[in-house]
Amino acid sequence: MNVSGWMIEEFFRNTFATGFKVKAHLHSEKSTFQQIDVFDTEAVGRLLLLDGKTMVSDKDEFVYHEVVSHIPYMVSRSCKKVLIIGGGDGGVVREFVKHTDIERIDLVEIDERVIEVSKIYFPDCTSGLSDPRVRVLPEDGFAFIKRAKAEYDIIVVDSTDPVDFASGLFTDEFYSDVYAALTEDGIMMNQTENPFLDEFGVKNIYGNMRKVFPIVQSFTAPMLIYPGVFWTFGFSSKKYRPTDLNPAKLGRMNSLERSLKWYNTKWHQGAFALSNFHKHMIGQE
Ligand code: SAM
Repeated sequence: MNVSGWMIEEFFRNTFATGFKVKAHLHSEKSTFQQIDVFDTEAVGRLLLLDGKTMVSDKDEFVYHEVVSHIPYMVSRSCKKVLIIGGGDGGVVREFVKHTDIERIDLVEIDERVIEVSKIYFPDCTSGLSDPRVRVLPEDGFAFIKRAKAEYDIIVVDSTDPVDFASGLFTDEFYSDVYAALTEDGIMMNQTENPFLDEFGVKNIYGNMRKVFPIVQSFTAPMLIYPGVFWTFGFSSKKYRPTDLNPAKLGRMNSLERSLKWYNTKWHQGAFALSNFHKHMIGQE
């Protein structure tokens, strides 16, 4: 919705909105899968929207991309292969390529046009895609995951909201396939929406993850451009708890941390101390 120079995104059955003062509408196209727009805005710089929903902005992209990558990396014992489902803006890949012990990073993005548009307007996010360890696979993640067995140490589901072709990525069937695709101590990370605005959706997502994974925990990180800013993420694991950091990785992370904008290991451990509200929403004792 546009109101004289503002891009207004409505949510929650159109009862709640976020607005961005627009400087320029840089890009607009309808791909095979979705409407892709890029705006230049006063407050958050460049802003990517898919089907009218905010995805990535210059201002806050580092928060999302750093937390979904460095948290599972620091918990994993051996991390050789990583899978990212969705994530066509490239930001999560950019963070994983910082870890030299990772041998392969597969990015399974359904819409190649998101990748191409991001290369033009978000070159910093896509900078990791040229790393020789990265394979970009244009495919539906829901179908791809069924063929992978005990292969990945970490799987990040960096998808759009649970509607249309992304809705399958929030089901217990998908989480069972992710479980099978993970190695014996594998970890899944995903974005799990805002419980203030979508209590039913959040409870459903965590209920589905709990049907499959023995360890399911959650944390929040502020996402300025997402509805309500209070954004939750899921950590689902076969063996290790999210605060059980791998001591062998602490030294190297200590030096990497200085170049990161959000993540550090102290924040990581504190992030899993949840409010009563958050615990109630995800069904945690
Ligand atoms: N961090 C962002 C957020 O939560 O708003 C998501 C960014 S990323 C651009 C989301 C990507 O997931 C989109 O490019 C979309 O095309 C992709 N996607 C959605 N459903 C998918 C599926 N079933 N398989 C693979 N990619 C999918």
